[in-house]
Amino acid sequence: MKHLTDTDLLHHMYGLTSESAAVTGHLSECPDCLERWASLAESRQELLRTQSEVPPDFLADQRQRIHARMEQQRPKPLLVRWSPAIAVASMAIAVLLWKVPLQKNAGQPVEIATTADAQLMTDIYKTVYDTEPDVVEPLRGLFDSKGTGGSQQ
Ligand SMILES: [Zn+2]
Repeated sequence: MKHLTDTDLLHHMYGLTSESAAVTGHLSECPDCLERWASLAESRQELLRTQSEVPPDFLADQRQRIHARMEQQRPKPLLVRWSPAIAVASMAIAVLLWKVPLQKNAGQPVEIATTADAQLMTDIYKTVYDTEPDVVEPLRGLFDSKGTGGSQQ
């Protein structure tokens, strides 16, 4: 058997070779390969000693940076994204509820503006759940056969 390569030695070290007996046999009779084997084993032991000494502060800092990066990439929840629109809608509701009784005489029953409420709820629902940007809506007319610009009938 010719001399063992570094790959042979590494595969033997990590149990990745099917010729373990042949490698062991060669190491027992070849001082050159045995010396390289001993050097590799020494290097591995040195690496194992030094790699275990990662400071806990470093790991904690690394974990925080990973979480920060994940937060940057994650899309914001729908509620957070639309919270300004919801705040405006809430103010509109408040103004509506405040104004409606003032418009009526005190002695008469208060008529509730159901149409405005329904429209408001529709607008809020559309704002919160509609994922299509408003600018897309005009473009839909281009593909609507009932549209005014439709040339094909
Ligand atoms: Zn050898």
